[in-house]
Amino acid sequence: MSDHATDSWEARAAAHSFYGFTDMPTIHDRGTIVVTHGEGPYVVDTNGRRYLDANSGLWNMVAGFDHPTLIEAAKAQYDRFPGYHAFFGRMSDQTVMLSERLADLAPFDGARVFYTNSGSEANDTLVKMLWFLAGAERNPGRRKILTRWGGYHGVTAVSASMTGKPYNSIFGLPLSGFLHLTCPHYWREGREGESEADFTARLAQELEDTIAREGADTIAAFVAEPVIGAGGVIPPPEGYFQAVEPILRRHGIPLVSDEVICGFGRTGAVWGAETYGFMPDAIISSKALTAGFFPMGAVILGPDLADRLGRAVEEIEEFPHGFTASGHPVGCAVALAAIDLIADGGLLDNVRRQTPRFEAGLAALAEHRNIGEWRGKGLMGALEAVQNKATRTPFASDLSVSERIANTCTDHGLICRPLGQSIVLCPPFTMTDAQMDEMFDKLSTALDTVFAEVA
Ligand SMILES: *Cc1c(COP(=O)(O)O)cnc(C)c1O
Repeated sequence: MSDHATDSWEARAAAHSFYGFTDMPTIHDRGTIVVTHGEGPYVVDTNGRRYLDANSGLWNMVAGFDHPTLIEAAKAQYDRFPGYHAFFGRMSDQTVMLSERLADLAPFDGARVFYTNSGSEANDTLVKMLWFLAGAERNPGRRKILTRWGGYHGVTAVSASMTGKPYNSIFGLPLSGFLHLTCPHYWREGREGESEADFTARLAQELEDTIAREGADTIAAFVAEPVIGAGGVIPPPEGYFQAVEPILRRHGIPLVSDEVICGFGRTGAVWGAETYGFMPDAIISSKALTAGFFPMGAVILGPDLADRLGRAVEEIEEFPHGFTASGHPVGCAVALAAIDLIADGGLLDNVRRQTPRFEAGLAALAEHRNIGEWRGKGLMGALEAVQNKATRTPFASDLSVSERIANTCTDHGLICRPLGQSIVLCPPFTMTDAQMDEMFDKLSTALDTVFAEVA
């Protein structure tokens, strides 16, 4: 730390900022990258260095960092009406229009939308809705939430309890009643000689057994990401949602799709549920909803939950929940513009156009002798580093291989994310062929460098 000049941006950041989700040894070694602005998919730091951000910021800046249409939408709305709430029977016209647009876009008819400021709050809100319903429908025991190990649903006390990550134990989480099923990662969790279809069947049986053990009437919902994102980009095994959906239906347990990453085009369709052919009872949305230009999340309720909650609220006369900035008019105006850009303005088309190039790039990098697996869907992908490809033995964790790869990429002007032993890529939807090639060339060089050091 001490070798940074005391007035440098790095030192100023370190002096008074409390870091979240940051590897402190890396910060002590390398200092903070302080970013001033962006140009398309690139960000620029205080030293004038440019980085291709292969993670779209945090999966969210899908239109790049300076899209004029989104900037214009925000400016225009700030001029018109810079802020309002959605309490007490009042809400902005932009909020009304965004709910209509989301209801149009939803895979089900009769959607109703509730706004938050983040994905974590959207998951929290969903759980509170289900708990409210359990109380109002006089089934107060129906409170348990099923998710999967490796699933990421946020950081508030409830959404962190849904998240299946070992780091939550130091907080004394999960809260009771949050149950985690096996991570649906065939390459890592599949047993010796088990086919992918058998793996899927085993996971479905685990769900059946869990419901039988806990009692169907104690379970409020099963919440899943179509593709697990922050758990390391893990697409479901073949037939997974087709196996799980009928079990949940049979037991009357809502299937909630956490589309915070997958929603709005990441997997090559508007919804991940569409990509994997299942019908959710509710959708959790955030991140690409505003293309990252405004903090916003949303719970999009399907018709059954919307009707039941609606009735419960009529009876009790109020749903006592909401955030000061829920349905913020600037956020809603930006989201309307972002959705237009994605759905009608060519961004989703470009995801589809670039997916073969993206997959080919990942497959080529998986030829490295220390890459055990590549996986992905649409424009989200991961490469898993292994010490031994044949036995799938990971590198010793104290080698910090994925951090070293990411740091070497940073030195070459590429930002990508280390996640466990994998490197994650989820570039903006605006990527050109040349930017794709730059991303893979830089990552390939970094893999060569680091594997030569550690192998
Ligand atoms: C990021 C994320 C969240 C949490 O969203 P925040 O806005 O960071 O609170 C929830 N679910 C998924 C799938 C996410 O990727």
